Amino acid sequence: MENHQITVTSPLLPDLNEFNERLKDIWDSKWVTNNGKYHRQLEKELADYLKVPYVCLFTNGTLPLITALQAMRITGEVITTPYSFVATTHSLWWNGIKPVFVDIDPNNCGLDPEKIEAAITPKTTAIMPVHCYGKPCDMDGIQNVADKYGLKVIYDAAHAFGVEVDGKSVLEYGDMSTLSFHATKVYNTLEGGALVVKDEKMKQRIDYLKNFGFAGETEVIAPGINGKLDEVRAAYGILNLRQVDMAIAARCQVAIRYRETLRNVDGVSFFDDIPGIRHNYSYFPIFIDAKKYGMSRDELYFKMREQNVLGRRYFYPLISTFSTYRGLESSKWENLPVAQRIAEQVICLPMHHGLSEEDIAKVISCIVK
Ligand SMILES: *Cc1c(COP(=O)(O)O)cnc(C)c1O
Repeated sequence: MENHQITVTSPLLPDLNEFNERLKDIWDSKWVTNNGKYHRQLEKELADYLKVPYVCLFTNGTLPLITALQAMRITGEVITTPYSFVATTHSLWWNGIKPVFVDIDPNNCGLDPEKIEAAITPKTTAIMPVHCYGKPCDMDGIQNVADKYGLKVIYDAAHAFGVEVDGKSVLEYGDMSTLSFHATKVYNTLEGGALVVKDEKMKQRIDYLKNFGFAGETEVIAPGINGKLDEVRAAYGILNLRQVDMAIAARCQVAIRYRETLRNVDGVSFFDDIPGIRHNYSYFPIFIDAKKYGMSRDELYFKMREQNVLGRRYFYPLISTFSTYRGLESSKWENLPVAQRIAEQVICLPMHHGLSEEDIAKVISCIVK
């Protein structure tokens, strides 16, 4: 067992026999994609599970971001966070939109609403925040700024599957929210994603856009894209939805173990659960204060690797430091001090439904001295 690797995540996989039965059904029907019965069923089941009116499935979690911007004709400049996975900012670039980075709030690692206003220009049309680690952003604060300036809000909720505040889904906030069902996420369809929208008209528009803009056999209403999810992954998704609550409960137990053993380690901090929020435990970030801990984040990170404990530095480096974006005015380090500091301190510990008691103990032993 000494050499067994403990990975940061592990895909939640449906029962293979049950999946094979669905495959047989798909083979028999010969309907393998283009809004088939499993696709329709999964859209409905997800809307129920997530407590949202409309879900539009996609073949990954990046196309819903790109398509949301197209659907609402967002142009010019969009305010966003440098502390995310690159897809967030890339979706703006692919739409010819200039990303404007704003610093984050250290209490949730999401956009700091108090810093948004100063970044607004006449060209600003929208805000694209991220519910980082599935921790809800200050959604009221963000909406207040958006309303004052007439901006749209598109949440990248790739981490926030199933997260609720006082019984209400975080996906209901803003104008639209996107999800990723990539294999590394809490809920997965291997690759996949969704756009959550508020009304039937927008659902229709998104369904056209993700199918090349076809609104009928011979009518194309917009330069759409191919974003469709196939029947095989939709069927897989239906099976996985039945066990996602089990996976979240298992992750919760891991979080409890990490917290009870790391709480008194000097120089190590982490987030606690917030009353009223249904958390999904998608990630377990810890933050290393090198002076107090007596070792830098990177030293700890590589020490863990040596012992086959594979944490991840999510999110490091900041998106604003990559070659495409580092020339932007808003990428200057003086503009993003909180994000810079957190990016230098963070390690996401292994967090998934399949971690054993020994795995957890081994992760902890790397950190507790
Ligand atoms: C995973 C992720 C995406 C992209 O999703 P894919 O399904 O991999 O395309 C976008 N944003 C964030 C914050 C993510 O973590």
